Amino acid sequence: MFPKDAPPSNTYFIRTFGCQMNAHDSEHIAGVLRSAGFEESPTIDDAGVVVFNTCCVRQSAEDRVWGNVGAISTGGRASRVVAVCGCMAEKHGLDIMRRARSVNLVFGMEALARLPGLVEAARLSPVCDLGEVGRASIDCLPSVRASASQAWVPVSHGCDNNCSYCVVPSVRGTDRSRPLEDIIEEVERLADEGTVEVVLLGQNVNSYGRDSRTGPFARLLEEVARVDGIKRVKFETSHPRDLTPDVLEVIGSVPEVCEYLHLPVQSGSDSVLAAMNRGYSGDFYLELVRRARREVPGITVTTDIIVGFPGETDDDFSATLDLVKAAECDAAYLFLYSAREGTPAATMSGEVPDMIKHQRFERLAATQDGFTARSLEKVVGSDVEVLIEGPARRGDMLSGRTRGHQVVLMQRTGVAGPIASVHIDAAGKHSLRGSILNGEE
Ligand code: SAH
Ligand code: SF4
Repeated sequence: MFPKDAPPSNTYFIRTFGCQMNAHDSEHIAGVLRSAGFEESPTIDDAGVVVFNTCCVRQSAEDRVWGNVGAISTGGRASRVVAVCGCMAEKHGLDIMRRARSVNLVFGMEALARLPGLVEAARLSPVCDLGEVGRASIDCLPSVRASASQAWVPVSHGCDNNCSYCVVPSVRGTDRSRPLEDIIEEVERLADEGTVEVVLLGQNVNSYGRDSRTGPFARLLEEVARVDGIKRVKFETSHPRDLTPDVLEVIGSVPEVCEYLHLPVQSGSDSVLAAMNRGYSGDFYLELVRRARREVPGITVTTDIIVGFPGETDDDFSATLDLVKAAECDAAYLFLYSAREGTPAATMSGEVPDMIKHQRFERLAATQDGFTARSLEKVVGSDVEVLIEGPARRGDMLSGRTRGHQVVLMQRTGVAGPIASVHIDAAGKHSLRGSILNGEE
């Protein structure tokens, strides 16, 4: 227990939930605090400022955050700041402080530049500053990058798609593309600092530039790939309806652009896809995947699928199983449908009982696991290019990714990296095992 009148500690600890966009936002939160003289605390308990950067895309994500926020206390330190930002802050605002008594600061991304002042104010009394999410412009703020060799670079913020189940447009605002020159300038700076791989981020990267005519996305890809020092370019997420042939052409022809496509299908049933407001059919999706494989041999295609959308019948689910078998994706992220307040799907009839949702989920997972295993096994015995990202989460191994975004675990060797040639020895359930042959300095 800390004495109540202990001097305010200028250390921070950030816990991030959710997607890569959130992980990248946390790099800016760290950058803003660092520029104001704060230092990172190795543990949450010792930190004078604790920031929860949150996600509300599914109820399970929210529950995890409420559990974390509920478990933290001010530790008896009057000056301790417990802050909540990110999607849950945008969604619940002031209510967070009513529900979680230890939270004394709630801020929105538009308020990030003001964070140091907000922290000082919150030490005296609770503060909520959400700003206007649609005007948030945090790309120019300082950041502390998690990796020296790889960087996330947002190309757009928000989303205009209004998929009927999704809360993202309401918590992240409408689709705003960053000017092409700003993106290139950032990538040039990163390359000067040693970054060799950039992952371009957007909720729907293929709509890049539609609002400002700085697109199309294919041109941005080419320009980023042209930056001196950049050896690999990846991007996420592609909406199947908006993935244009020129993007496939660039993946196939520009060596720096990696052979990897995250292409969420969400369902294989045309009626469910229509109710989701996705704007394509199962056949359209399959044709797109075939085309991608034709134009870019060896491309890795991954997907997202929601199980148990309102009104999903046994036949609808069978159509999803059929699509999964036909698409043979290299990996799939499966989600149980979660009703999000304020979205059109939340008021749709035909709720799928939990037990059926879980049964369908298990069947789908078992089917997809076969394709994931086959995709990993295909690489065994070959030498592949791996970007070494750092220590693996468990054990004394290094972790990296292939150009197709597959995870490779490797024994530590002497000097290697950031890009290494790796011999793939074996395939696990979700990752590969390899031995480093040589690495570039
Ligand atoms: N913009 C991206 C990512 C959106 S969120 C895209 O369009 O793919 C990431 C994934 O979460 C989605 O692809 C979807 O599969 C899942 N998801 C979103 N809302 C959900 C909900 N209400 N219930 C369950 N899964 C959801
Ligand atoms: Fe949500 Fe659809 Fe936008 Fe993705 S494309 S963020 S699923 S509304």
